[in-house]
Amino acid sequence: MAKIPSDTPENDCAASDDELISLHGDSDDENAQKSIVFNARRDLEDPKFEFALNMIFSNSKEFKWAVEMHAVMKKKDINFKKNESRRARAVCKVSSCKWFIHASKANEDEPFKIKTIGPDHSCANQRENKTIDSGFLAKKYVEEFRINPSWGVKEFQAHVMRKHSSTLSRHQSYRAKRKALDLITGTKEEQFDMLWDYCAELKRSNPGTTCILKLDDNPKTMVKNRKRFLGLYVCFAACKQGFLAGCRPVIGVDGCHLKGYQKGGQLLTAVGIGANNNMYPIAFAIVEGELKETWSWFLTLLNKDLGISQNSFAWTFISDKQKGLILAFDETIPDVAHRFCVRHLHRNFKTEGFGGQALKDVLWKAARATTEPEFSKCMEEMSKIDIEAPKWFINKPPIHWSRAFFSSFTKCDVIEQYVRVIK
Ligand SMILES: [Zn+2]
Repeated sequence: MAKIPSDTPENDCAASDDELISLHGDSDDENAQKSIVFNARRDLEDPKFEFALNMIFSNSKEFKWAVEMHAVMKKKDINFKKNESRRARAVCKVSSCKWFIHASKANEDEPFKIKTIGPDHSCANQRENKTIDSGFLAKKYVEEFRINPSWGVKEFQAHVMRKHSSTLSRHQSYRAKRKALDLITGTKEEQFDMLWDYCAELKRSNPGTTCILKLDDNPKTMVKNRKRFLGLYVCFAACKQGFLAGCRPVIGVDGCHLKGYQKGGQLLTAVGIGANNNMYPIAFAIVEGELKETWSWFLTLLNKDLGISQNSFAWTFISDKQKGLILAFDETIPDVAHRFCVRHLHRNFKTEGFGGQALKDVLWKAARATTEPEFSKCMEEMSKIDIEAPKWFINKPPIHWSRAFFSSFTKCDVIEQYVRVIK
């Protein structure tokens, strides 16, 4: 062991330790011993790399990482007997093996360096390496996850098992990925603390933008002096101005579940229809759940941004009748017109036992009908297919879903929540 690669850079270092040995023969100055500086980029993954006496590390953390990498590369199980900021000592876990390594920093002026190294490993290669845990993998693969944050847990698990010939459970693989992403983006607490800066930056770089953070004022729900997050509403000034200047007064509102840490949280969106009938984002909010209260909060802010209540009869909202949404409308902007997305309407219709292509076609035909007689004809057609089907629409007045009954004020006959781009 303790071989010195011939091409390693040299670093002058004032020696003060008795254990220091001269690596390059006699020197003019007896005290000026030569040491090798550990280079993580070059040495960490080099299979020929060996530790050497006096090897200098930037700190104990770097030394510990190098020892862990050594253990994984050499398939050895090691244990840290001492792990402090000024000294660290690792031994081989196999009791008959005498390998050990000790590094320390005697004082503030001295670098962190290897003071003693025991004999080479006499143990056999270990099949299961305990060093390869989620924390180790997160550190090792942090750069890969930075480049490709969507690297799947399953693919990552397979890669680690192949590369290190060790077993790794799906859960360990998931934890490793999560820890790596935490290293890149910061933990959820660190990200939470940045929300104020984020809002301030949005407002600074986009003057006129509305960015509102909603927190729970109840001191009982505070965790580590942090108030509980309830919601974040964002409406960019450019989106707001563009929508008000050139879009028809029709807005689609929808909510979807968030994945990851925000499990249980929802993303609420308000989307307009552009001049080419494509989607035009207006505002979004991240909230704790799709409830009447959260919809009310979202609609109140949207109303303030767009001035809907100044002329509510002119506005039309398209939705899939989400939980609490209609109640929230009644509370905040009661006079706006509603359209129900026909796609969702058909899905519910089908679930209630009215499946089949013929019923689907006639329902869409009724929705697209532009006159009342045409609509009535479609409903008659529907009753011929299934006498029970038209009865399902008794509490779903066509004013909400058929073009024949829409107000012409909006100049918009959209019957679906998501409008496809016309090519
Ligand atoms: Zn050993």
